[in-house]
Amino acid sequence: MIRVELEIMPTSKGLFTAAIPPLDGEFLYQYDPYAGTVSVGDRIELPFGRRLVSGFVLSVNAPREVSAFEEMEQRGVTVKCVSVQEAVQAFSHDQYTLFEWMARYYCEPISKILDLAIPSFASGRKDPLYTLISAAIPTDLGKAQQRIVDYITNQGGSAHSSALRDEYKSISSPLKALIAKGVIVEVEQPPPDTSKASRYIPSKDILNDSQKWAGDELAAAVQKGDFTSFLLHGVTGSGKTEVYMHAIRAALDLNKGSLIIVPEIALTPQLVDRFEQKVGASIAVLHSNLKPKERWENWSRLLSGEVKIALGARSAIFAPIQDLGLVVVDEEHDGSFKQGEGIRYNARDLAIVRGKMSKAPVVLGSATPSLETFHHATLKKHILLKLPGRFHNGKKLKYTLIDLNKIKPWEMPSRNISHQLVSLIQNTLDRGDQAFILYNRRGFASYLQCTHCEHVVKCPHCSVTLTFHQKPVALLCHFCGYSSAPLIVCPSCNRSEPKERKGEIQNSSPFALRGGGTERIYEELQGLFPNARLAKLDRDTAQSITDYTEILGKVRAGEVDILVGTQMIAKGHDLPDVTFVGVVDCDVGLHMPDFRANERIYQLLTQVAGRAGRREKQGLVALQTRLPQHPSITMTIREDYESFAEHELIERKQLGHPPFQRLLRIIVSAEDRNSAQVAAHHIASVAAPLAAHYEVRIMGPVSAPIEKVRRHWRFHLLGKSVAVNKLQAFMAAVKQGIQVRKEIRVVFDIDPQDMM
Ligand code: ADP
Ligand code: ZN
Ligand code: ZN
Repeated sequence: MIRVELEIMPTSKGLFTAAIPPLDGEFLYQYDPYAGTVSVGDRIELPFGRRLVSGFVLSVNAPREVSAFEEMEQRGVTVKCVSVQEAVQAFSHDQYTLFEWMARYYCEPISKILDLAIPSFASGRKDPLYTLISAAIPTDLGKAQQRIVDYITNQGGSAHSSALRDEYKSISSPLKALIAKGVIVEVEQPPPDTSKASRYIPSKDILNDSQKWAGDELAAAVQKGDFTSFLLHGVTGSGKTEVYMHAIRAALDLNKGSLIIVPEIALTPQLVDRFEQKVGASIAVLHSNLKPKERWENWSRLLSGEVKIALGARSAIFAPIQDLGLVVVDEEHDGSFKQGEGIRYNARDLAIVRGKMSKAPVVLGSATPSLETFHHATLKKHILLKLPGRFHNGKKLKYTLIDLNKIKPWEMPSRNISHQLVSLIQNTLDRGDQAFILYNRRGFASYLQCTHCEHVVKCPHCSVTLTFHQKPVALLCHFCGYSSAPLIVCPSCNRSEPKERKGEIQNSSPFALRGGGTERIYEELQGLFPNARLAKLDRDTAQSITDYTEILGKVRAGEVDILVGTQMIAKGHDLPDVTFVGVVDCDVGLHMPDFRANERIYQLLTQVAGRAGRREKQGLVALQTRLPQHPSITMTIREDYESFAEHELIERKQLGHPPFQRLLRIIVSAEDRNSAQVAAHHIASVAAPLAAHYEVRIMGPVSAPIEKVRRHWRFHLLGKSVAVNKLQAFMAAVKQGIQVRKEIRVVFDIDPQDMM
């Protein structure tokens, strides 16, 4: 590890600059060099006004600052003196390079980056975790209570007391009130696992031929010690994990560290155990649900080089691994790698940056790579490694396509579940196996679909669904702002008369409004299979990793026959007795006003199908749809990722969507709708001349697809460019040029994933 040693300057004063999150800028301090030293990356207590705050050392005794200091002294400015005894190293030089890169790329002050990346230094104080009961939030909370609820919501549903205290001064009485009202609960946490030692004996697995080939390619890259990026494209169940572990072992043999990032939800203790056993070394786990103390301890172990491997969700990309030899991004297509709040970094993209900086190979692994990654592989920016078959050489999955157009509503045994699906589930239960039933409910979007020909109304410019608005009645494109009066004639079949259908919301047109939810499916299944043991896995039932592992634990233990859930059930589970996967409605997410909708549905269907028949038993998959010809569905059944990707990329190219053009989304929000709108127009007027200068195409402002979030009205603008550096320069210039009032929030999201 590199530490900048102090050079004692002739002035006999030690000087350093520090960042003090969340403040912008750098602050100058002095210390007594005879009492100790400070180094770049140290965390240190600094006198600030009348308080002591914690800051990070950014530069030490840079000569320029010393002369500036002398100048200041002459002008009678005093630079506060700091005690350096308790300075603790918080990050390394290597990491600092990454943080500086981020500050430039995302156009944010370095102190905000440090605040985001570095876990808070934790004392031994008790630090309970509070979790929101989302069903129980009353609308009449006091201001302090509401702030806490908002904060916890922003953190994904739970937050530690220490984090809350950092944010707000007095929290104990509003917390008490919220607990009394049943809005939040204090979650008990298991004591940290301190049994970590080098007690692991690496167990050598026999890799099959393609695993060995891929693993050796990665190991060779690790040995070479240069940046290269790989796409490990292995079908579900092909054993990508074994390939990663082969490469991690190669890094360990050279005494080098590895970083593995995985989607949030897949972060289960089983995964860590499996890695530790197989790799034969301790692993530091890093994710936001850890107690601050644990998080800090794991962080320090990596920083000191005591532990060489880090595994974690998105934020683990910042892990202070010494002598990094390999970076792995598992399930690289997963949306959770992109931070949705604050600084909207993408850990997958940062993985590439980190690999380049540390001269380490990077592996992006998936059965359903993101189109960005796949496109880069076809351009040879990534080396493609393919694992074509499943490891447990069972039988190929058998798919049943259930065309809902061919079934009359009154022929359905329940509103959403067909006879065919019922009998496939029944057969599964009769065999004593388990069934996964997917219904990917996504809250808000209602779309119009022709009841005669099933045509879904779309924007002529963006190939995304138009959203039906009631107030005022209109069809809007949430992507580009195109709007039209609600159609009365179906553009596809030319019919204009309504069609009588039981149980559907009708208007006086040929169109029906569609929508649904897991709760309903659960109820329907209960009615259809009164003796089966059901469980549900979605954001309502699994708010924390603990809930999540508990539900899956029950499935693993055979205490559940049918698991109903959202996309959560599609992620990485390797359960031997799941032999049937049913998708109640493949089409739900296809009608989102988002150009990635097809890609996401293809990924979801292929991933969820991949949960079935992972051992010797035959896996069966049933897909209910009204769009049996849709490429996301047909290519899933044909297990033909390449054709799907090629088909989508042609369309993306025509419409100028990523990966062919880069995007910048500017979101403007405020509690008052009019203020938000006015601010959005102000930003547009600042952006227009800049857009011309930087050759960026700018669209909007329009209302965001989700118009109001947490009482804030939202508008957005979209910038497009083929060159990311121009887009970035444009972003920096717009940020500089705008003036908005304090109550207006402006978010700059470069490379946005979320278009809603
Ligand atoms: P993927 O992540 O590609 O979907 P996994 O890594 O979960 O696949 O592997 C699928 C299954 O095959 C797992 O149960 C895993 O333990 C098993 N497996 C894969 N490769 C090997 C191997 N070389 N030796 C033993 N078991 C393996
Ligand atoms: Zn029609
Ligand atoms: Zn449009």
